[in-house]
Formats: sequence, C-alpha cells, structure tokens
Amino acid sequence: MKKIIFQLIYYSGLWLIFRYINRHKALILMYHGVTHNDLGIWTRVPLEQFELQMSYLEKNYQAQSLDELVNQLKENKLPSGSVAVTFDDGYENNASLAFPVLQRHHIPATIFITTGFVERDELYNGFIWTDFIYILLNGCNLSSLDLSDQGLGKFNLGTHEQVIAANVQICAHLKCCPDSEKQNIIKAIKERTGGTIRAEDRESFAPMSWEQVCNIQKNKLGSIGAHTVQHPILSRLDLHEAEQEIVQSKLMLQQKLNSPINAFAYPNGCPQDISNEIVRIVSDNFTYALSTDPGFNDKDINLFALRRLGIGNDMPLWHFKLHLSGIIIFLKRMASYASL
Ligand SMILES: [Zn+2]
Repeated sequence: MKKIIFQLIYYSGLWLIFRYINRHKALILMYHGVTHNDLGIWTRVPLEQFELQMSYLEKNYQAQSLDELVNQLKENKLPSGSVAVTFDDGYENNASLAFPVLQRHHIPATIFITTGFVERDELYNGFIWTDFIYILLNGCNLSSLDLSDQGLGKFNLGTHEQVIAANVQICAHLKCCPDSEKQNIIKAIKERTGGTIRAEDRESFAPMSWEQVCNIQKNKLGSIGAHTVQHPILSRLDLHEAEQEIVQSKLMLQQKLNSPINAFAYPNGCPQDISNEIVRIVSDNFTYALSTDPGFNDKDINLFALRRLGIGNDMPLWHFKLHLSGIIIFLKRMASYASL
C-alpha cells in the first residue's frame, strides 16, 4: 500500500515541489556498506543501485565535502541543492567498491571510522557488534535459537529472512541494554551458535585496512571522521567510558593519519542515544557531529546533532529521488502526528 502511494507521488511529479521547497537546506546522506549483490540487509546497498544514485546526484545536486557543507551552513551561504555523502563504520567495500564510483562521478565522501573495527579488536571477532550477531546467526546450522534465559525469547533461523528478522530483534533489544550486559549476551550467542563465520560474510562485513583509511584521507575526494572505538551506544555507558570511546577514536585516527580529525558521528545516533553530557564531550573534541535523526539541516541546526538521511537497500532510483526531495520525511511526520 505504502509503495503504491509513493509510486503515485513519484509519477504525479508531486515530489518535485518538495525538492524545490527544500532546495536551500543541507542534505547529508548516510551509507554503510556497498555490496556486489543484494544481501537483503538494509545497510548494504547493491553496487548497481549505488552507481545510479551517484549518477543522479552528479546531475541534479551540488555534491560537496562535508567540511565545506558545514562551513557554508554556518555562514548561511549554502548553494541550492547541497548534498554531502557519508559512510559509517569503515567497511572495506567503501574503499574497494564505493570509492571508484564516487571518483567517476566526482562526489566527495566522508567515512566515519570505528577504530577498534579497523584494528580488528578481538571483542567481537573483528566485526561491528551488530554485524557479528548476524554473522553468527547466518553461519550456524540451527533451525532455532533459544535466548529465553537472556531475556530475549526464541528465534527461528530456518530461512535467511528469519535470520535477518532475528538479528534485527536481538540488536533492537541489545541497544537498550547496558553495554556489559550486551557483551555477555553476544558471548552467549557465540557459544550457542558455534561461532562459524561464512567466507562471504567475512568479506561483506570486513573493515578497511589502515592503509586504505590513509589513502582515502589523502585522496582529494575523501575525508575521515571518528565513530568511537567499539561502536557502543554512548548513552548505555558510564560517562568516563563514553569519554574514552569518543577521545580514543579521535587520538588513534590522528596518530595513524597524522592529520587533525574534526568530525564525529554518534553510533546508532538516534536522539535518545545522545545525552547533553555526551554532546558536551563531543563538542570539546570536535567541530561538528552527525546524528541519524532523519531530516534536512538549515542555519538554525545544532552543529553537534546534524541530521542525515539513511540510504538502504530498499531504495531503487525513483524511491531515492523521493527520499531526497523530503516528501517521505514529511509524510512520516504527518502519519506520526495523526497516530498521536
Ligand atoms: Zn555506525
């Protein structure tokens, strides 16, 4: 039903009015991984889809570096149709698959690095914790997984769709737990699933090497920002631990790249993940920071809670155009007001 409504809006051209209304607001896109094929996971955009999206940006928007866009926003001198592209976490496919496309279309991008991920820290076997849970569920031969004793219930794993659904549910629960409890539950999942990692998952969810991170920073289209050490939800840590996660990721990047790091992206990045204390620590160490709160940015935006539009695997080009116009955000806000 939703798809039919969106298609009607697209073919009626109504979305073009929204693109025009929002033309002086800054748009920041958020990607994670780009993959050869569609894995059925929202954060992995198929390469073919990504190529079409970047081609559309090149022809219809003013793609700028994030630093440039934020400066223009501060000075209230934003050109019409400004957009910046960002990637979170630091996946290897950002360098090997996405960057050649960005270069072909002359589009700058900022990659926010989880430093423990690039360091291949042992804690989650060298993966981002949310990916690690998916990898464990996908790699085991179990038809179901019982986590009732961990306060989570029982999950069917018979099909790939069930694996994805179980991962989404488990991650949603763990995002609300204190970090230490989250680590214990992930340990239990690893023990119960056997810890097998499929070769294709190892590739799809692998981090960049430090050499790739340095090469992106040196490239005139690339820049690097910080995204903590272990990708925790910062509001689930005590303040000292949160400060360590924020500061240590910056220091390690500065040391490895031998250049200042001024941009930060909050892991998960929803408004409830970003307390005033966290913002204070971030503003003491960076010049701006990005949330995942969906929307546009105008001159009145808080520079330590910049909004982004997340781009997922469910956005063929027509849907991508609608999303960037702002009409989908508008309709979602209307729907949530209506349900109040
Ligand atoms: Zn992230």
